Amino acid sequence: MTTIAIIGAGMAGAACAAALTGQGQQVVVFDKGRRPGGRMSSKRTEQGYLDLGAQYFTARNDAFAAQCQRWLEVGVITQWQGRLARAEAGSVTASPDKTLRYIGVPSMQAPVAAMLDGLTLHTGCQVDSLAFDGKHWQLFSAGVSLGQFNCLVLAIPQQQAEQLLQTAITLGPELNSLFAVPALLPCWAVNLQLDHSPWPYDGIFAKTGSPLSWLARQGSKPGRCQGEHWLLHFSAAFSQQYLEADNSVIAAHALQLVQQLAGQPLSAAVTHCHRWRYAQQNPAYPLHAMIYRPELALGLAGDWVNGGRVENAWLSGVQLAQALSL
Ligand SMILES: Cc1cc2nc3c(=O)[nH]c(=O)nc-3n(C[C@H](O)[C@H](O)[C@H](O)COP(=O)(O)OP(=O)(O)OC[C@H]3O[C@@H](n4cnc5c(N)ncnc54)[C@H](O)[C@@H]3O)c2cc1C
Repeated sequence: MTTIAIIGAGMAGAACAAALTGQGQQVVVFDKGRRPGGRMSSKRTEQGYLDLGAQYFTARNDAFAAQCQRWLEVGVITQWQGRLARAEAGSVTASPDKTLRYIGVPSMQAPVAAMLDGLTLHTGCQVDSLAFDGKHWQLFSAGVSLGQFNCLVLAIPQQQAEQLLQTAITLGPELNSLFAVPALLPCWAVNLQLDHSPWPYDGIFAKTGSPLSWLARQGSKPGRCQGEHWLLHFSAAFSQQYLEADNSVIAAHALQLVQQLAGQPLSAAVTHCHRWRYAQQNPAYPLHAMIYRPELALGLAGDWVNGGRVENAWLSGVQLAQALSL
């Protein structure tokens, strides 16, 4: 039996691990985080969870829609029926968009954790180097071997996958081409606690070209911070420009932009600032679904490979598992 190491317990790594386990393969999953979930990340606060990364997910693909149905049945996701709006030309108006949107319950990590239930998972374990002898992969963390495996799956963001692979092999032209264009762009996330809501909505898509891309009232989702906690995502362009800025600079921009959008002074406190270096898809990146190199016993999966979004991360992981089983 093949023993497969999967680095990354986000949606892609967990989907790949669950599918491989279903095929009777032996899988060991490693993640540097304290909990699985990756960018499906809800931070626990005294007032409830706060979704700092993915805000919701949609299901356009039939197989993923069927998976969502199973998650709904076991109660690890629910529909989010937030009242949505668009900010345009200085006003915020209701959006006619009726797409079904899902969230994890009680936190965004829940469906990922459900897929990993009963599998061998090592959290708090950063894999920082690899060795490949032409047949087997060995994984290391702080100089300590984590074991030897017949196959390696990297389900981590593009830039981190490149760095890790370079510790073991010389990347030929084919692998190098995967890393030539950045697949994931940054995103600053800020949470504001307001004394009242300036809008009768739960989620606002900001205007294209604006420094903000999205605002969401956390209390509209079950288990999340009650009261007027508004989570803001900045655009990729703004986040790139202010990538190394201090939290205080980002917080000041957040306050100013929200007051501008509301058209009134607001009493607001910034409770969290989080920088995602690798957040959402660069539209210029060419997509591959997943990458499997049998001669290297190596697979790569993740949203960056397959077009951003939770759904594409799941599909990428499942498709890689199918390729590995052939
Ligand atoms: C701010 C933001 C907003 C978003 N909004 C949405 C949205 O509204 N809807 C939507 O569908 N998608 C959204 N997304 C995208 C969505 O979160 C991702 O598509 C999806 O979660 C990616 O899953 P993944 O498994 O490919 O990667 P990740 O979730 O990044 O998982 C990778 C995992 O690998 C681990 N890891 C990395 N390096 C190592 C290492 N060396 N050793 C061990 N572990 C390692 C990490 O800890 C992480 O858990 C958003 C993302 C962000 C950041």
